[in-house]
Amino acid sequence: MKNLILIAPPGAGKGTQAKMLCKKYNLVHISIGDLLRSQTDLNESLKEKIKKGVLIDDNIIFELLKNRLNKDDIKNGFILDGFPRNLNQAIGLENIIKNIDVVIYLEVPKKELENRIIGRIICSNCGHVYNSLIEKLRPTNNDICDICNSKLEKRIDDTLEVFEKRYDTYIKETQPVLEFYKKQEKLYTINLLDKDEIFNEIVRILK
Ligand SMILES: [Zn+2]
Repeated sequence: MKNLILIAPPGAGKGTQAKMLCKKYNLVHISIGDLLRSQTDLNESLKEKIKKGVLIDDNIIFELLKNRLNKDDIKNGFILDGFPRNLNQAIGLENIIKNIDVVIYLEVPKKELENRIIGRIICSNCGHVYNSLIEKLRPTNNDICDICNSKLEKRIDDTLEVFEKRYDTYIKETQPVLEFYKKQEKLYTINLLDKDEIFNEIVRILK
């Protein structure tokens, strides 16, 4: 059993890594973003905050997370994706679950992240992700999915304004979290860009 935390700026591809790792090690992927987005009963002011990229109150996230970590399916291990985002959350997490084994930090230059997010377009049907700003990720026809011919869409919160705000907050708040796990000797920093290289490096670390 392995319990992992993946820390990375928005657009670093931690969702992709999480999926690959879940498959290889049979782990459960717990994404705070998905947990929040899937709460259809969220009130309007919360939805508005998510849309604007404002960080959500820690207590709401703890509640969602506590419920999720109480489920039986995490017994084989899990990957926490997008959490903890600040020191308060890191400390609070210790009260919910003690046995975090490894913390992986994906380091990516800001301009690279900006292109990945601003150009991101997603198939409304099969969920395949393309990018209009990155040559090898462009769809053959502008707004149409190569795989299923459905319409491609931008996510509502993938704007430059939201990106800048998220990135600045991210840098300011993440540093203390990295220090926190460094002291516990659980932190591994990876500064590679290719997703297969990153994946191989994580596999090496987990060994
Ligand atoms: Zn598609």
